[in-house]
Amino acid sequence: MSSPTMNDRPVPRPNVLAIDPYVPGKSGAPGASKIYKLSSNETPLGASPRAIEAFSTLASKLELYPDGSVKRLRAALGKRFGLDPDRIVCGNGSDDLLHLLSLAYVGPGDEGIFTTHGFLVYKIAILSAGGTPVVAPEKNLTADVDAILACVTPRTKIVYLANPNNPTGTYIPFEEVKRLHAGLPKNVILVLDGAYAEYVRRNDYAEGIELVATNENVVMTRTFSKIFGLANLRLGWMYAPASICDAINRIRGPFNVNGAALEAGIAAVEDVAHVEGAIDHNEKWLPWLTKEISALGLEVTPSVANFVLVHFNKASGVSANDADAFLTARGIIVRAVGAYGLPDYLRITVGTEEANRLLVEGLRDYVAEAHRG
Ligand SMILES: *Cc1c(COP(=O)(O)O)cnc(C)c1O
Repeated sequence: MSSPTMNDRPVPRPNVLAIDPYVPGKSGAPGASKIYKLSSNETPLGASPRAIEAFSTLASKLELYPDGSVKRLRAALGKRFGLDPDRIVCGNGSDDLLHLLSLAYVGPGDEGIFTTHGFLVYKIAILSAGGTPVVAPEKNLTADVDAILACVTPRTKIVYLANPNNPTGTYIPFEEVKRLHAGLPKNVILVLDGAYAEYVRRNDYAEGIELVATNENVVMTRTFSKIFGLANLRLGWMYAPASICDAINRIRGPFNVNGAALEAGIAAVEDVAHVEGAIDHNEKWLPWLTKEISALGLEVTPSVANFVLVHFNKASGVSANDADAFLTARGIIVRAVGAYGLPDYLRITVGTEEANRLLVEGLRDYVAEAHRG
């Protein structure tokens, strides 16, 4: 007679079941005639027409393996950003690279640091590698360098910082990033996640290229999912010291970037005008949304990215849950961020002019109803 034991079926490593699966933004609104998806920070302008054309050339070559070294894409990135292509590694989305960094450098007993409202993938990456996540408190929904440094122990192996951060939209100046780096031991990797870097228009901001170029322990990750409009293809890249590129190249999937992503990515990088158009659009509508939503009496966290974080203060009779449901009924999909420890907030992506106007109208009607009710 045997009683059920741990050996009756395969059991994952201890940390695996401690992971809360990543919950993506909603994409549907049953009953609504038209959907405005403002929940995943996708660009309202779509992909570059040149990228779409490059993508379509792959249709007749689906049986062929892609170039596992993604040589032409790394060359295109190197040219556009002035970087050595040998120090670029591409991934199946930047999520892929964020995971691989923990997998290569963080093991059981090791710690990885991120901030209170940091991007959720960091915690998942650290846990899946077997490491222990450590959360550094923020100040005013913004990363706090002293708090991060105070979390460092001899077990710390990696620090993930999204700058600007998702879902808060806040950033820290490059001087602060440098101060963070200067305070870290040389064996700790500082990952600067620049998913929204292209959107930032601040003189005191930098993506961190200079830090990567001059140190052995700084990595910058970037994505094609946001301003480049290729989220569906899954493509990201990192610029890193040679030794880190070498480690990641050993453990990544040999064909982790598919051929369609490779071709579309090259075309997207080369279409500078399309990216500038997206920046212009954001420059116009980010301040507009901030002003209009604030005028409704809702607090908007100042954002430098392509989304805003809106506070639905329960004390003033409004609720993020109710507003979410109200907007969804009109086909406007926004992002609940309870999983980020922000149950009273909604994250809203800058959309097309039509979507932005409908969003503000929807929020205005919601606030009026909440105050009547
Ligand atoms: C959207 C986002 C990414 C990009 O993820 P991909 O896997 O490249 O689509 C990375 N970091 C942050 C903070 C993001 O918001």
